[in-house]
Amino acid sequence: MAILKILTDKEPALRGISRSVDAITPRIITLLDDMKDTLHKANGVGLAAPQVGVLRRVVIIETEAGKLYEMINPVIIEKSEEIQHELEGCLSVPGRWGITERPKKVKVKAMDRNGNYYTLEGTDLLAIAICHELDHLDGILYTDKAIRMLTKEEIEELGE
Ligand code: ZN
Repeated sequence: MAILKILTDKEPALRGISRSVDAITPRIITLLDDMKDTLHKANGVGLAAPQVGVLRRVVIIETEAGKLYEMINPVIIEKSEEIQHELEGCLSVPGRWGITERPKKVKVKAMDRNGNYYTLEGTDLLAIAICHELDHLDGILYTDKAIRMLTKEEIEELGE
């Protein structure tokens, strides 16, 4: 187990397209474990492998403490039409926040660490986290999609 360095948006690796995982090797298991430690240390709700410099389609999400989803080769298979405006941030874009439009509900299909496929339906924060983390796998940051970024004054008001 190790805490990995989280890349920031200045580093080009964050813009790469991640490769699918063909086989769940001990390296992938170690990556998942290290990502979990790193996420907890950073107090985040989600982390994608490219954020720690590994261009593989691996994501972890924990919007509810103790309920960690590990997603290998995740694909969104359904999403609601409904769009909501939400405040979004990213561990790779420290100190900044933006307003984004995201579906209210998404359904994702992914593999767990045992190689079993599962589907997960997420609403609200979980839906946003799924969309946000999966975007990382294609080199997309929420700042690319944000309707607008918060001003310094607005961030101060948030107390962040
Ligand atoms: Zn992010």
